[in-house]
Amino acid sequence: MKIVFATGNPHKVEELKAIADSCGRSDIEFVLPPKNFNPIEDGETFEENSYIKAKEANKLTKMISLADDSGLCVEALEGGPGIHSARYADSPQARIDKLLNAIDSSKNRKAKFVCAMTLLDEKGNIIFQTRGECHGEIAKEQSGKNGFGYDPVFLVENTKKTMAEMKEEEKNKISHRGNALRKVLHFLSLEN
Ligand code: IMP
Repeated sequence: MKIVFATGNPHKVEELKAIADSCGRSDIEFVLPPKNFNPIEDGETFEENSYIKAKEANKLTKMISLADDSGLCVEALEGGPGIHSARYADSPQARIDKLLNAIDSSKNRKAKFVCAMTLLDEKGNIIFQTRGECHGEIAKEQSGKNGFGYDPVFLVENTKKTMAEMKEEEKNKISHRGNALRKVLHFLSLEN
């Protein structure tokens, strides 16, 4: 089965493939959309934005399309930066610094990563939409070199590790994207 994954980031496709392989679904081939894939992500929720991306990929390819939209939601910031996580500041380090400063005086450091996924059929109709979450808290200092984005300051619940201290395989088992994709794979296994 071939699915276009609506992203411009080849690393994400590798990540999805690793998760699908670990679930025994190495028969699914995730492919990138064409170069002119350029969705306008102006939705107000993770779900809306994942739909916008999947719809654009489907328009260009007429293939079964999957998209994700993810971000970090911090309780002390009333769920922010949320859908604005990628644009919270100008660089990955500036985003981490801004986050640590923003919640500096707060006792509540609870946070979660959220990932919405939308799956469209060849005609562009939604056939499945789901959400994966990963709960934890914001560390006082950053630690770890793996991963990307807010990983160095996200302490995963029930572990003493930040996401950036986890190996890729370990992160995939508990991550918001891993949790969302496993639900999509379960749906596909019921369909086929
Ligand atoms: P997108 O859904 O790939 O556009 O991700 C939005 C933003 O959320 C990213 O640019 C990161 O800042 C943040 N983010 C999403 N997933 C992760 C993750 O697994 N680790 C760290 N940051 C993440």
